[in-house]
Amino acid sequence: MPGFELFGELERKHVNDVLDNGVLMRYGFDGMRNRHWKAKELEAALTKRFQVQHAHLVSSGTAALTVSLAAAGIGAGDEVIMPTFTFVASFESILMLGAVPILVDIDDTLTLDPKAVEAAITPKTKAVMPVHMCGSMADLHALKTICDSHKLLLIEDACQAIGGSYQGKPLGSYGDIGCFSFDFVKTITCGEGGGIITNNSAYAKHADHYSDHGHDHVGNDRGAESHPFIGYNFRISELNAAVGLAQVHRLDDFISIQKKNYTIVRQALSTVHGLTFRRVPEGGVENYSFSSFFLPNEQTTRKAQRKLSEAGIDGCFYWYDNNWHYYRKWKHLSEQHVLGRLPSETSERLQYLQRADFSASDHWMGRTISCLIKLSWTEEEVRKRAGAMAKILRSAI
Ligand SMILES: *Cc1c(COP(=O)(O)O)cnc(C)c1O
Repeated sequence: MPGFELFGELERKHVNDVLDNGVLMRYGFDGMRNRHWKAKELEAALTKRFQVQHAHLVSSGTAALTVSLAAAGIGAGDEVIMPTFTFVASFESILMLGAVPILVDIDDTLTLDPKAVEAAITPKTKAVMPVHMCGSMADLHALKTICDSHKLLLIEDACQAIGGSYQGKPLGSYGDIGCFSFDFVKTITCGEGGGIITNNSAYAKHADHYSDHGHDHVGNDRGAESHPFIGYNFRISELNAAVGLAQVHRLDDFISIQKKNYTIVRQALSTVHGLTFRRVPEGGVENYSFSSFFLPNEQTTRKAQRKLSEAGIDGCFYWYDNNWHYYRKWKHLSEQHVLGRLPSETSERLQYLQRADFSASDHWMGRTISCLIKLSWTEEEVRKRAGAMAKILRSAI
């Protein structure tokens, strides 16, 4: 992460194509646009790169999650299982549809613990939404087995792991639907944007219509199109798509730079006694956007984090205390701080959060540090940084 570090000529070219004819919208204006269809081209590129039949762009990763759930028919009262360690977008997208987020423990993969998922299933459960945090994936085989036997949807949040793979399949393409974010700090960016990938043509069609007010996109007169169901506006603009079109062609270069830098950091940290790395499920290949590791206990981890920060090693996160990524600080969710009113069914069901015990997640997150792997480092900078990190962590342990 993040793709903005290597913004360049190709991004500028695609944006200028759009500015030259001034059609900033992805639909219509066929005569004016001089054959530039950046969103369509980016969708085609995503389909190819991620080996799926359908890709649909939307305005953000959060919108991708919302539209995916909506496309699969998730609605009022349905329960969606999600991890305690993720970005707030996970529960926001579920609540947006009147569904209920059911938080479940993570394990040493830093993603959903399949056993905890199974234990959380109720007659109202409709979907499981693993989040491939910090560049590595959930145990998708185990989750798929559970989903198949309970007839649940598997919706992958691959926003932080684009370019990684599992059992030879690109992350996002293993489950029923996969979601990407192209926000400004992700591995490839559109400025703001999101992507949905699937092999299910009904979901693809629903996503296409739902994200554009229900437009069926038949014919070439927008005003005359019909609306088979109620939708919303989650459209991406051509300007954003133009940036993403340049970036998607650079994804594999970005991943190989990340891998090189990650490997140097990993080798240095491997020499630190008492430090262990987050588990990558068998058959998984990370996208190398973070190096995440465990220290022996919470106290040592806090001390190590403080020392790293004092030494000017930036981009190392102690998620356990983070307001946006870990359930401990989500009082606005557990106490239901909303501007309007939640549906009463959702509000009542959410009471479980008052008594929930996520000590199994705390066990891992309390001693996890994740360090961002940048694209713009020179090899000398990575080596120096890796050496300094190892020294600091050794002294902290
Ligand atoms: C960034 C992110 C999102 C949301 O994406 P936006 O484009 O910022 O809305 C969702 N899930 C995860 C795991 C993310 O990292």
